Amino acid sequence: MSRVLAVTNQKGGVGKTTTVVNVAASLAELGQRALLVDLDPQGNATTGSGIDKSALKHSVYHVLLEQTPPQEARIRSPSGGYDVLPANRELAGAEVELVDGERREYRLKNAIDSVISDYDVVLIDCPPALNLLTINGLAAAWRVLIPMQCEYYALEGLSDLVQTIRRVRSHLNTGLEIEGLLRTMLDPRNALAQQVSAQLEQHFGAKVYRTAIPRNVRLAEAPSHGQPALRYDPASKGAQAYLQLTREILERFEADALHRVSPI
Ligand code: ATP
Ligand code: MG
Repeated sequence: MSRVLAVTNQKGGVGKTTTVVNVAASLAELGQRALLVDLDPQGNATTGSGIDKSALKHSVYHVLLEQTPPQEARIRSPSGGYDVLPANRELAGAEVELVDGERREYRLKNAIDSVISDYDVVLIDCPPALNLLTINGLAAAWRVLIPMQCEYYALEGLSDLVQTIRRVRSHLNTGLEIEGLLRTMLDPRNALAQQVSAQLEQHFGAKVYRTAIPRNVRLAEAPSHGQPALRYDPASKGAQAYLQLTREILERFEADALHRVSPI
């Protein structure tokens, strides 16, 4: 069974794109067939995967407008070993252009459905907003992965996101659930961050991934080289943390599958 994860948090700069790129690369490293969908007009996941966003002939924009099939728009990441449905600035127009579009919330879902058999895991990088693009991501997803920074206000935005997920669940995507909360950019010497991290674990229990991503300069440098950290500096703490996280993600998938097939 293929898994589709939307990586989302309407708060900006919490590590969504870094997570999507590095988990995709780790999946490829572990022998999984992965597709990264860049749903952000900033196109950072596209660039970070080593793809020139200014030279795109087709992008996720054309796919959402049903002008290009995803089979034609996807590109292999030369540095990551996974496929990318790329994005650039043009995508910012999609919201307006889709306003009267038929089944506009399901455009991405339809596209992913048509290529899903080529992949074990599909990761969707959502923009920092609860807009139609993010709704498309949530409508297409099996589950949601929420990266968050362990800071004082981290939990504040979470209730809006949870509301949105609930709304999508009741109107567009019945099975949608939170797959996991991921602590990002964790600084072990920051006492407040450690405190918030512990609170998250207390509050959300097993929903919080055991693996937390440390603040690591290699993760910040890698995108400017068009590479996931696993390629840029495989031994770095950041690359290794994402590899560990990816193993944990796959373990959860397996546990979930076992749970589902278990008798009564
Ligand atoms: P946006 O909301 O704008 O899409 P985002 O949630 O996708 O942002 P990223 O772009 O992944 O966040 O990360 C924000 C910045 O922090 C980037 O410059 C990135 O390189 C850096 N960064 C992300 N994770 C780490 C980390 N663990 N250690 C150090 N730097 C990081
Ligand atoms: Mg981003």
